[in-house]
Amino acid sequence: MRQPMIAGNWKMNGSTASVKELIAGIKAGMASVSKAAVVVCPPAIYIPQVMADITGSKIACGSQNIADQDKGAFTGEIAGSMLKDLGCQYAIIGHSERRSLYGESDELIAKRFAAARRAGIKPIFCIGETLAEREKGITNDICARQIDAVIALEGVAALADGVIAYEPVWAIGTGKTASPQQAQEVHAFIRGKIAKLDKAVAEKVQILYGGSMNAANATELLAQPDIDGGLIGGAALKAEDFLTICRAAG
Ligand code: PEP
Repeated sequence: MRQPMIAGNWKMNGSTASVKELIAGIKAGMASVSKAAVVVCPPAIYIPQVMADITGSKIACGSQNIADQDKGAFTGEIAGSMLKDLGCQYAIIGHSERRSLYGESDELIAKRFAAARRAGIKPIFCIGETLAEREKGITNDICARQIDAVIALEGVAALADGVIAYEPVWAIGTGKTASPQQAQEVHAFIRGKIAKLDKAVAEKVQILYGGSMNAANATELLAQPDIDGGLIGGAALKAEDFLTICRAAG
């Protein structure tokens, strides 16, 4: 059985005061979350504050990216060992905003995946197609290509050390959610693709859905057999909405 997971991607939002309030709100409602693993991914600068504030709770912390190198002259990057040192357990990699706004390639993202594994951090590996790609009918090809970059570098077994987040780009931050059927179709394709190489890995790997998941649509999406949780952007910034999604998982 795969444990459901709900991860909040706070993106570049927050302040010392708002982070404190948001964590306090989530913490206060955690007793009502029975099944889901709950992860918050604040901007890197707030990770120490979040780590201090989640002490004693079941909330885990992740970063929003991770360096592909382990140390040295890489200005602006944050190494996996540093994230681990602070207590982070997860790192989002390959988010579509990193791919489209910062030109991150499949190969670079695969290297980030590898670096996370070396540091003992679980990558939350984002993949997904743009609207144009969906309209061309190449959604599965795009997801396969993005996954194949990691398999080529690290082997299929490595996928079991991470979490995959299927995030159709056209659904991120747009309010347009993939229908439960659309999302399930792609999740089943991803799991089936991995199963052709390694059935045990395919059974084990958690595949989250991301893209305008919110308190109103989470239950139906999370009820799909191959949707193991959610990567949540906008709705993760409101404690009550985030908790409602966490309660809907499992
Ligand atoms: C995200 O940024 O990963 C995301 C899913 O955002 P939103 O929920 O706001 O669409």
